[in-house]
Amino acid sequence: MSSPHPSAALASLVTEAGRTFDKSVTTANLPVFRASSVFFETLEDAYREGAGATAGVHHATSYATAGTPTTFALMDALAEIEGHGHACRAALMPSGLAAIAAALLAVVKSGDHVLMPDSVYGPGRTFANGLMARMGVRTTFYAPGLPADAVAALIEPTTRVLYLESPGSYTFEIQDVPALCAMARARGLVTMIDNAWASPMFSRPFDWGVDMSMLPLTKYWSGHADVLMGAVVAREALWPALHTSVRQLGLCVGGDDAFLILRGLRTANVRMLRHQQSALEVAGWLARRPEVAAVLHPALPSHPQHDLWKRDFQGSSGLFSFELRRDALGADEAVVARKLAALSQGRRFFRIGYSWGGYESLIVPARLTGLRTVAPWTGGPLVRLHIGLEEPADLIGDLEAGLAAMLAAH
Ligand SMILES: *Cc1c(COP(=O)(O)O)cnc(C)c1O
Repeated sequence: MSSPHPSAALASLVTEAGRTFDKSVTTANLPVFRASSVFFETLEDAYREGAGATAGVHHATSYATAGTPTTFALMDALAEIEGHGHACRAALMPSGLAAIAAALLAVVKSGDHVLMPDSVYGPGRTFANGLMARMGVRTTFYAPGLPADAVAALIEPTTRVLYLESPGSYTFEIQDVPALCAMARARGLVTMIDNAWASPMFSRPFDWGVDMSMLPLTKYWSGHADVLMGAVVAREALWPALHTSVRQLGLCVGGDDAFLILRGLRTANVRMLRHQQSALEVAGWLARRPEVAAVLHPALPSHPQHDLWKRDFQGSSGLFSFELRRDALGADEAVVARKLAALSQGRRFFRIGYSWGGYESLIVPARLTGLRTVAPWTGGPLVRLHIGLEEPADLIGDLEAGLAAMLAAH
């Protein structure tokens, strides 16, 4: 679907995208369709819808695995918001990881080769080295900071995909996505990006030139830590391949979950502005702490690729890491582990947890062992924070207590 309102601001788009109505519905929100069976007036209708669903015709459905009004509304909203003026279509997945797997499976075949950044989301690496490798698809990992001409040197005759993730998981490297996409396009590669961090509000991946964007809707699009879902948004030209894979794999989502993502979308703009502001306050406070060697947040001028972030993104989200000074923790691994546990545990607002993107703040020390093979992390211990919607002063109070507990632990 091309966007009917390419000029509308994202803040407006998220409030109205996917709000399709029919004559029987006069409420602000669509009702939730919970469905498996779909009924038809005539056998002719059933056959037409079935053929349409198989061919990937917009909104054709003969069975709810192909879609319902609720899931179609969400697909339309995602294509419009993420596509932002580009002709895109969206497919829904049961998780963000399933979106990564489905996007890759839609494009690669046995014998193909894929380029992936070393900072890729860990389970994405596991998929590449596991099921994809078993299917005869090889992956080469590249340092996330590699310039486009150096990545081009890694392209082989069978290379099919340039995979991108910006910023990188845990270490927050920003890639020069427009340059990488232009290079990949000139060489006939498909580009796909894991666009988790930037939320619905702060990136335009199709302006950057990517072909497919994988979205963990679980995170900011939901915003409430209560639903798992993913999506692949693809340029129209890639829709037939994506749709075929999604149908053959039986990937689909339920109406209640789709409704929760639509509900989250309506407040995405105000939530993201708050996540952004609070994260910057907490990051600024951490940067001034003597125990902290560096804060890995792309919107801070100290970030190595801050200029790329400023050029390409419209804002920053609530997720970043900070690096502790080695001399604040000592050299004994067991002591370091106890200090990191003391920092993480027993706080009022921060909870120990993976995932992110909800209203709640989270803390988790990064364990990068096995997750970096060409660009190993050589700095001090890294701690990842998700800054939720609590008052920043309360979060800073938590971190102050955590750092004191860390220093006292032995
Ligand atoms: C969480 C996450 C995913 C996966 O999303 P799920 O819905 O949890 O499977 C993918 N990529 C990144 C960068 C993530 O942080």
